Order: sequence, then C-alpha cells, then structure tokens
Amino acid sequence: MPLDSKAPGGPLEEKWDRHRFELKLVNPANKRKYEIIVVGTGLAGASASATLAELGYHVKTFCIQDTPRRAHSIAAQGGINAAKNYQGDGDSIRRLFYDTIKGGDFRSREANVYRLAQISVDIIDQCVAQGVPFAREYGGLLANRSFGGAQVSRTFYARGQTGQQLLLGAYSALMRQVGIGQVRMFPRREMLDLVLVDGRARGIVVRNLITGEIESHSAHAVVLATGGYGNAYFLSTNGMSSNVSAIWRAYKRGAFFAHPSFIQIHPTCIPVHGDYQSKLTLMSESLRNDGRVWVPKKAGDQRPAEQIPESERDYYLEEKYPSFGNLVPRDVASRNAKQQCDQGKGVGPTGYAVYLDFQDAIKRDGEAVIRKKYGNLFQMYERITDDNPYQSPMMIYPAIHYAMGGLWVDYNLMSTIPGLFVLGEANFSDHGANRLGASALMQGLADGYFIIPYTIGGYLAGTPLGPVDEGHRAFGETVKAAKDATDRLLSIKGRRTVHDFHRELGHILWEYCGMSRNEAGMRKAKERIPELREAFWKDVTVPGTSADFNQSLERAGRVADFLEFGELLAEDALSRKESCGCHFNEAYQTPDHEALRNDEECCYVAAWEFTGKGKAPALHKEPLTFENVKLTQRSYK
Ligand SMILES: Cc1cc2nc3c(=O)[nH]c(=O)nc-3n(C[C@H](O)[C@H](O)[C@H](O)COP(=O)(O)OP(=O)(O)OC[C@H]3O[C@@H](n4cnc5c(N)ncnc54)[C@H](O)[C@@H]3O)c2cc1C
Repeated sequence: MPLDSKAPGGPLEEKWDRHRFELKLVNPANKRKYEIIVVGTGLAGASASATLAELGYHVKTFCIQDTPRRAHSIAAQGGINAAKNYQGDGDSIRRLFYDTIKGGDFRSREANVYRLAQISVDIIDQCVAQGVPFAREYGGLLANRSFGGAQVSRTFYARGQTGQQLLLGAYSALMRQVGIGQVRMFPRREMLDLVLVDGRARGIVVRNLITGEIESHSAHAVVLATGGYGNAYFLSTNGMSSNVSAIWRAYKRGAFFAHPSFIQIHPTCIPVHGDYQSKLTLMSESLRNDGRVWVPKKAGDQRPAEQIPESERDYYLEEKYPSFGNLVPRDVASRNAKQQCDQGKGVGPTGYAVYLDFQDAIKRDGEAVIRKKYGNLFQMYERITDDNPYQSPMMIYPAIHYAMGGLWVDYNLMSTIPGLFVLGEANFSDHGANRLGASALMQGLADGYFIIPYTIGGYLAGTPLGPVDEGHRAFGETVKAAKDATDRLLSIKGRRTVHDFHRELGHILWEYCGMSRNEAGMRKAKERIPELREAFWKDVTVPGTSADFNQSLERAGRVADFLEFGELLAEDALSRKESCGCHFNEAYQTPDHEALRNDEECCYVAAWEFTGKGKAPALHKEPLTFENVKLTQRSYK
C-alpha cells in the first residue's frame, strides 16, 4: 500500500498555512454534532481535549491514572524548545528546523519538522497566557538555557519541573471544559481495543480499573495520545504505567507502526544498581549546561574522583566534539559513555558509570547559583544515591528514555485507519532517529493545541459519517474479544510472575537491541522473544479476578503486548541496513565510530502492517525526500 504523507507542496514556509486554508471547516453549529474520543491526558491528550472542547466539539477523555494530572508528562524536567530567539544568539525557525532534522539523522519528514518549528513560538505564548511560571531573566523576559544538539539557547524551563508546570496549564484548560460539561472525563479507564465500523475508527473498549467492568464508547473520531513504550525494556525513565497497549491494539486493527526500533537512550541517568530495581531515574539534560563529563584516563583507576588530578582526567566529549562539547545530542553522548566503560574506564561499583562534575561551575558561579538552577535535581540525586553532588561528581549512565517510533501518521496526524489520529509520543513523530532534548514537550503541545484542531475538522467536514452507537455489532464483538483475552490471562495460573517475564524481556531488548546492535544479536532477540512469549502464555500467574481492582491483571495485559511488540522492534532493527541516530548497527560505522547512514537504500520511514497472528508483518516504506536540506554526515565536532 503506497503511504501518502499528504505533506503539501509549495515552499516550506508556506505549507502549513496553505494546508490550513485548504482544509475543510466544520461550522460552529455543526461542531456540536460531533463526539471525539481522546485517550490520554499527558501534554498531547490534555491540550487536544481542551482545545477541541473549546472549539465546540463534545469530547470524551480517558486515562489510566486517578486524575488526568498524573500522566507521565508530569515527570518532564528540563524544558521545552521554541525558536523565540529572545537571546538574540542566532536562533530562528529555520535553525530549529535544521537542528531537529539533523538531530534526527535525516529520518523525518521535512514538512512536519518545519511546521513544528513554526508552531513552537505559539506554544510559549499559549502557556504563558495560561500562567505557566517559566523562569525569567532579570529584565522580565523569559529565560533560556541550552540543550543537546544546538548551539543556541532556546529551551524554556520552570526549574527542573517544566513538564509538571506545562501539564498543570493544560490540565486547567481541560478541567475548565469538564466544568462547562464540554468534556466528559473518564479516569481509571484502560483502553483495551479500538472499534472499527466500515473501516473507520468509531470507538473504543475500555476496562474500568476500579470495578473491572468492560465498557464501550462510540464517537465520530478517536485520538490516541497514550505516550511512549520505553517500558518494553523493563528498566527505563518512563512512568510505571507507560505502555504500548493502546497503540499496539490499534496496530492489530490495521494502523501501521513506524520505526518501532528507534528508541532513545538518554545519557544522564542514575546507573542501575541491582537486579531488584524496577525504575531508573533521569538526571535532566539541562545539567550538561554546567556539568562536565569525564572518566579517568587510565583504565581500571579505582581512586575516588577528588584524588584524580586534572591531568589524569579524560573530558572525552569536550576533546572529541569541541564545537558542542558536553552538549552533543543524546545518541552521541550515550554511545561515547558506553565506549568509555567498555574500555574499562567506567567508574563506580559496577564500572558502568561516568562522572558528571559541577566543581568548575560551582567555582565559577558559586553554589547558590547552581542550587537555584538545578536544586531539585541535585536533591533527587542525593536522596537516591546518598552522595552530595555539590561536593563530589554525579555518576551517570545511559538508560532507555523515549520512543521516536509509534503509529505512522500523515501530515494531518491521521493513522492508516481513517478517523484514528495519533498525537505526542504515541505517533512516530517528527524526531526521526533521535530526538533532541526539550523537543518532546514541544511536539506534544504542537500536536494537541495547534495541529489536531485543524486537521480533525478537515476529516469530519470531508467524511460522511453515519450514526453509530455502542449498540452496533462491532462494539459487541470487540467487548467479547477483550473479555476473552482477560479471562485467558487469569486462567493460566502458572508459576512465574508478570514482573519476572517483563524483566527477562527487558534484558533481551537491552542486550541485543540497545545502544549498540549487531546482526547476530538482533537475530537472537527475534528468536528468544517468541520463546519467552510462549512461556508467558503457559506459565504466567495473575492473581485475583477481573471483577475488581487488579493491578496484576493490568500489568499482565501490558506485558503480553510488550512481548509481541518486542519482536517487531527486533524485526525493524534488523531490516534497517544502516546506522542512524539511536539505531547503531556495528556493521555501519565511520572510522571514528559514528553512525554511518545509507541514504541510497534507507532514506525511508519504515511502517509495519499487522498481517495476522503468527504471520510476518509487512514492511511499507514511505520515501523521505529532502528539498530544503542537504543530507550530510552528522558532525558535532
Ligand atoms: C523523566 C523524564 C523527563 C523528561 N523530560 C523532558 C523534558 O524536559 N523535555 C521534553 O521535551 N521531554 C521530556 N521528556 C519526554 C516527555 O516527557 C514525553 O515524551 C511526553 O511528556 C509525552 O507526552 P504524551 O502526552 O505523549 O504522553 P504521556 O504524558 O505519557 O501521557 C500518556 C497518557 O495516556 C494514558 N494512557 C496510556 N495508555 C492508555 C490506555 N491503554 N488507556 C487509557 N489511557 C492510556 C495515560 O494515562 C496518560 O494520561 C521526559 C521524559 C521522561 C521520562
């Protein structure tokens, strides 16, 4: 099936404007006749729900948590990018566009990325108007700091709690609509399946996580904003309930899954310290504005950091990448940390850590200044490690963090299922093979506040949609399938916990589809995941019943999906005969170990189609064409 991106023609700068003009409109009186389901209340879902309701649509919004405010977006720390150029340091929309497309190693769509950069400036205005307390300069203008992959300061922030503050803004807008009655909020509901009528998305089936009841809900269109799937790897920086299930089940109903193997590994996380850990903690990229990354020059050097003299320290990022220094993009910083540790130069009890040192910044600016910028992050580090980062350097190591892959969407953010739109981290997004720091919040809010309100109108106005309600046969069939799947999980009564299977899957993915990949390893993952899946369906134990609150059952469903998804991830990684961004295939590297793209053969979006249980997925390729940027070897030297 040819994938039509629906990216408009014409000059880059005019595409979005023209497209908005050409999209059909739903007049205000008719908006009241439409119902839209939004699944997810992170930045993407909350902003979409609020804006669609403000426009006059009837919105039904769903989330797993007890309140929309607890979506994983709340955890975002460092900031949000926008090309405001308040600093006057050379930024512009074109520069943000270029940095993003280069940062993603030229594996995203030009038209989408340019639109993202254009919209970035409106997002900040919108959030300021909502009262989001961004940090300010002494003169009153909003302050900025730098993030990886950029040589300008364009990241807006609210200390280390930017996601929380932005989400409170979107949540307030959402709750205003709940108050007015324009949004009906359904917390503690987990989407189990998508309902299609005549090939179009017309509703969802959810489980009430408190009562266990299976409910169905109909609408004229469905918007998924269900976040990322980093938790497939078991250990990640994501919230515990982040999952792949909603988009995976939509995939099994016909939505193509793009770039499943593009998964970001963040260089600055608190290292793994044992087998019984279920979460990893991020130390925001913003810390690399002032922290210097180093390891001892000599392999096996066990001396404490303060006893290693300056001349025996290797500030390897500053040495190797003088232009960007410690602020190289995440994929580059992560790979370099791994290389240092693999050479025996890692520090800490496991040897899998590098230092992030603030001594020079503290000497230069004083502890009070550093505390003001990063106080809550330093406190978090100290609470977890019992080390004081004002006195000794932090120890950090890369960890799974963000999914660049997700459901394939066109320029309108519509998936291959008509009427199913996908926003935020859940879509395959504008970040190509590597996302730059502070760009996920920008994308989620661009999708929710500024893109979907136009494009969903275009769909609704241009599509004759007959009346459909929950009494339709398709709902009954989908509810039955969801109940059967739940009963099956409860009936196995095996010996191993869901957690145990999840941990083993995580080990396989990290080992063979992690920071560095090779053909033999990826094949091994493809072999071992189906074996593990089979063992799961024979031997998993899920205590309790489906008739009430049962978190083991919730987790079992999510892990069952990860066990299917993991195989697609390995398949996708194996099929890409190049290295690009986060996808580092050891067979394709430059002499100095950087990712080596194969633009001749691999300049495409890989979009996978479900072809049936037990059958190989079909690969569809959306060619990527670049008219405004020249494809170059990414260099941060
Ligand atoms: C620790 C951390 C720090 C970060 N810091 C930054 C940063 O500083 N800057 C930046 O740009 N990015 C940052 N990111 C990335 C960014 O936070 C996320 O990409 C972004 O918040 C995702 O938003 P979202 O709206 O797409 O999804 P989420 O915020 O993950 O929300 C998902 C929503 O979907 C719901 N949901 C999921 N599955 C189902 C289901 N089956 N049924 C019903 N509801 C469902 C959930 O309940 C939730 O409401 C960070 C990420 C992490 C992990």
